[in-house]
Amino acid sequence: MPIRYLLRHKLRKVQFVEATCTDIDPVNKTIMVQDESEVRGEVTNTRIKYDFLVVASGAQNATFGIKGVEEYACFLKETWDARKIRQKLMDCLETACFPGQSDSEISRILHMVVVGGGPTGVEYAAELHDFLHDDLSTWYPEITSKIKITLVEALPHVLPMFSSELIKYTEAQFAKDKIEIMNNTMVKEIREKEIVVRHKNGEEVVVPYGLLVWATGNTARPHVAGLIRKLDPSVQNQRRGLVVDEYMAVKGAKGIFALGDCTATKFPPTAQVATRQGAFLAKYFNNLGQMSEDVQEQYANGELGSQLSGSYPSFEYSHVGTLAYIGSDRAIADLPGGVHLGGILTFFFWRSVYLSNLFTVRNRVLVVADWIKMRTFGRDIARE
Ligand code: NAD
Repeated sequence: MPIRYLLRHKLRKVQFVEATCTDIDPVNKTIMVQDESEVRGEVTNTRIKYDFLVVASGAQNATFGIKGVEEYACFLKETWDARKIRQKLMDCLETACFPGQSDSEISRILHMVVVGGGPTGVEYAAELHDFLHDDLSTWYPEITSKIKITLVEALPHVLPMFSSELIKYTEAQFAKDKIEIMNNTMVKEIREKEIVVRHKNGEEVVVPYGLLVWATGNTARPHVAGLIRKLDPSVQNQRRGLVVDEYMAVKGAKGIFALGDCTATKFPPTAQVATRQGAFLAKYFNNLGQMSEDVQEQYANGELGSQLSGSYPSFEYSHVGTLAYIGSDRAIADLPGGVHLGGILTFFFWRSVYLSNLFTVRNRVLVVADWIKMRTFGRDIARE
């Protein structure tokens, strides 16, 4: 949803700056922002002063320094990543149809590899399967049987955060859908047309591929890692993100708050956690005006801690469950109270939860319209 659409309805003046934050200076209370868009004016860098700063800038894809990832893999984090994947996928299909291609080259080009068996990798492999099965079989009947999807996971099983029952269910569904899972297999290197993987027994194998999606989890973005380095290492001791107190004040800093995937907390880095942290922090900022100046300052400096409890309870998180889509109109759900669900009904439950979590009616209507459009006319295979 465009941010401008949300800001239009605010009573107070909100200035929006589309730019990348490249540095946070916690001493002088400023941030450095840079215009990285295609159209740039005479000014492309500027410093902005703050009284309070909320860092909610998420995380970036972890590559673990593995050779070739940045160069040859597609990530799956931002909208433009999804566009790039679609572009490359359609290119693979057309290249496989190019006259005179050898059988082995066709097999390579049509081998779709997904690295990382977390929810991102599993949901992507599932959606890709549906796309091939529901749509591409109509448009590319001559090659669909040659398309292969492989999911590579370093651990013994995919989706380690789900119950063993649902892991088994997912692996069985993937086997039915002919998605190969290579468990206990670590990707060591990515080359232009092949990947080098190492199995648990130490054996190294070279696997040719056409499209590779890298979904091995997250790491801190450069400006967040930079801020961590500038703060007291005895409190900021996590590489994956900022350490915050129970009011989301960044420990060791004055006037800085952080939430979501850029923090290192006991909560999982999910939208479910981040949206509640956002609502919690918004409520506290709305209450700031009613606090005395002393309390405001202490609050901003993260010095209030348990003194706030009572009238201002700290952030509490109660998990409402974990859901994932696993393909062929099936989803899995781990719900509180040891309830594990999997199947078509869970898929409808997943969709209703998805819709209820979208804010604004406009967004819900657009998403439902998209689903209806997809069911009626199939997915769009046009390229840019
Ligand atoms: P993840 O960290 O959950 O999973 C990454 C996987 O990649 C791990 O299982 C890891 O063992 C594997 N891996 C790492 N390096 C590897 C290598 N070199 N070779 C092979 N495998 C390797 O990452 P994610 O799936 O991107 O999820 C990130 C966060 O977002 C998680 O907290 C997740 O719960 C959340 N998320 C949730 C949903 C959902 O609820 N449906 C969907 C997407 C993401």
